[in-house]
This record gives sequence, C-alpha cells and structure tokens, in this order.
Amino acid sequence: MSARVDHRTLYRLPWNLADNAITWLEPTTKCNLYCEGCYRENDPAGHKPLDVVKEELETVKRLRTSDGISIAGGEPLIYPHIVELVQYISAQGWKPILNTNGQALTPELVTKLLDAGLVAFTFHVDSHQNRPGWPDKTEEDLSELRLRLARTVAEYSKGRIACSFNATIYPDTLDQVPMLTDWAQRHIDIVHTMVFILFRSVRPKSRFDGFVCGEKVDVEELVYQLDTKEQPRDIVTQEAVDRIRRSYPEFQPSGYLNGTEDPTAFKWLIGVRMGNSRRMFGSWDAKMMERVQTLHHRWFGTYIAYARPVLMRRARALLPVALVDRSVARSFWNLARSPRDWLAPLRLQALTIIQPCDVLPDGRQSMCDGCPDILPYKGRLVWSCRVDELEKFGSFVTFGVKDVEPVEAADDPPLETPLETPVEAASGSNGKGTAAAGRAPTG
Ligand code: SF4
Repeated sequence: MSARVDHRTLYRLPWNLADNAITWLEPTTKCNLYCEGCYRENDPAGHKPLDVVKEELETVKRLRTSDGISIAGGEPLIYPHIVELVQYISAQGWKPILNTNGQALTPELVTKLLDAGLVAFTFHVDSHQNRPGWPDKTEEDLSELRLRLARTVAEYSKGRIACSFNATIYPDTLDQVPMLTDWAQRHIDIVHTMVFILFRSVRPKSRFDGFVCGEKVDVEELVYQLDTKEQPRDIVTQEAVDRIRRSYPEFQPSGYLNGTEDPTAFKWLIGVRMGNSRRMFGSWDAKMMERVQTLHHRWFGTYIAYARPVLMRRARALLPVALVDRSVARSFWNLARSPRDWLAPLRLQALTIIQPCDVLPDGRQSMCDGCPDILPYKGRLVWSCRVDELEKFGSFVTFGVKDVEPVEAADDPPLETPLETPVEAASGSNGKGTAAAGRAPTG
C-alpha cells in the first residue's frame, strides 16, 4: 500500500447543496446500452418533453448556483432535442457537459454540439457494459474505443470541447487502474480528465430492512439489484490511489469531498497533474486547488469542475503562479531539469476517484457531502444516484438492522472491511455515462 491519504492535509472542496461546480440533469431515461449495475431503469418511452426539462432547469436556477450542467440519463445523445437543449443551457450561462456512453457519437453531432456551446464530453467506457461490437473486451482492449472517441472529439471540435473518461472500477478491474492511468497520460493532449468510479455492490442478503415513513418496503423492487449471490467487495478510494501510484508514484491528490456520515471517507478525491505524454512533472497541492476554486468563484461567481480545453493545454501560462505556489514551482523546476521536454507542450490533466454511497453498520447512508450530481426532481434537488427510491416509494429509503440474520447468510463469505471507513453494506455503482453513482442497498 502506498502512503495513506489524510483528508486533513487536503483541501475540502467548498461545493455544497446551494452552490456547486456541477448539477445533474436527466432529459431521458432511455438508453442504448445495458451497463451492469446501472441505477436508472431503461424506459423506452423515457424521453421527456423539452419544456419539462426546461422547467427542471428553472428549479436549478431557483435553488442552486452552478458552473456546469451534466446532461446524463439514460443516454443523452439519443435524446431527440439534445442539440437544442445544449444550446439552451449554454444560453442560460451554464457550461453544458454531456455524460454519454458514446455509442451514438458521430462527427456531425460533435460539430453541431460544438456550435450549440458544448464544453465537455464525459464518456463512460468500461468492460462491464455489454457494448454491441465490443463483446468480452478487457479494459485494455477498450482503450482503442476510448482513443477513437477522444480523437473524434478533438478533430471535429477543433480541440474546443474537453474530453473526459469515466470507468466504473470493479474488483476484477481494479488492477487495470495503472494501465488506464498510463493510457490517460499517453493521450494527455486530447484527454483532460480520467475518473475512476468505485463499484458499490448490492447485497442480495443484506442484514438491513428498508423503511419509508416507518413502513417496511420491499427494496428488491429497486433497480439496483444484483441477481447473483456473489458478495462483491466494496473497493475504497485508498485502494484506487495505491493502483494509480503503481503507474504514477508521485500522484498527489489536492481536493476532496467527504461522506455525509464519515468525515474521513474520500467520496470525491481530485488530483491535477502537469506534464506531457512522455512524463509528468508534478501535481497541484491543496493550496493550489484552493486558489483555483476561490479565484474562480471570485471572478465568475461559481466553483469549477470542468475547465475548457484551452486552459488544460496551456499549463505554461501557470509559470508566474510558481512565484506564489510551491507545487507549481516544483513542477516547473522538474521541467527545467529535463531539457528534452523544454519544447514539448505542457498540459494539465485531472485524475478523480469517486466512492459512491456507503451504508454504515448501523444503517446510516453516507452520501457525498456537497454532492455535485444533484438532480432537479419535482421542484426540489435530490441525489441522482437514489432517484429510483423516489420513483418507487415516493421517498428515500432508510435502513434498520434486522433483528435476526437471515439463515442463508451463513453460506456467504464474510465481507471485507474497507480500509478507510467502517462501511459494511453497500450501495450501487453507476454504469451509464455518469460522473458518479451510489445506490441503495437491498434488504
Ligand atoms: S454518488 Fe450519489 S451522492 Fe455521490 S456525487 Fe454521485 S449522486 Fe451525489
């Protein structure tokens, strides 16, 4: 295990419910893929009328300051009004970001979305997606698809739309994190962010009962179900950090969001590194992340998560910042000691780890404190990862420990204790182009 990350040494991102870098939007619940563990029910009639989506945006405007709007779903690229919606969001002063599986991406669509004001694509690609044309592919095989998507965006947007990749990380793909970290570095010219979303498993035989308004509910109705008896282990953020450091030993995160019930849990952990496709020269420290968030808020009135690619490309413009920031000074010092890189382009790239909803041993759910993926829903703001509970039961489910353990549970292997939290049972993972997802445990 690499050095343990201590939240007290990092910058706690100032994102909160009323003022956040991003807000989630789901114009459709229809999708063209089946991702293992996706938290949204794929509804073939799931396209919302554009006016309804605009009303949802009015809720956002009324309740929350936001820099960007993450348009997700469902699959947003098959939403019939997607170009008009991006245009509308941009006209309201938000940065439109598309969270997509990329299946429906075409060069023509990239061009139209660029003209409509799109700022970033976040592609969700991983090996648990059952992609037509990509059967039984490993994470390494899928890098060919990632590269194809990144090149299409770079070429047809003329480098003006940022490109990020999400991958849900499962126990069987955890060891692929170093390969993905390497891959992201090799393509730093056109890949601006790499996000690892840690799989949250649903226990088929949990020791919890679910309740809504004091009434017991059948949580097996929720879409977050694993129909297998296997007890997948919950990966925690430190494990992903350890894997990133196998490929990039200097990885130093700078900002984080903690859990609503556990201040030491890294629900979002963000690092920004500086380098080129050949080597990295250093990462931002907590102070630098604080400077960026604070100054962005002072100048633009919002916190920031997605930067335009032109900024990620021009890391050399940070040279004057080296006078006041030690981590930036160190990166330029490392560059100065590497003459063969003096003329190479210098880039920024973000590495993010997301550890979705955890359920503590007493049934409390620890969500991301300052959740960026908040969704407007019936006039209020709710966690996008748990909206299925609202759809099925009209309210969020709370959990109580069962008096008696189910008899069959004795057959199951013991749960592994996560490294950094007393989390025992689980919530789900996102499988569908989302920046994050948690899910409610089954009872
Ligand atoms: S996992 Fe859930 S709580 Fe965390 S950021 Fe995503 S939607 Fe919000």
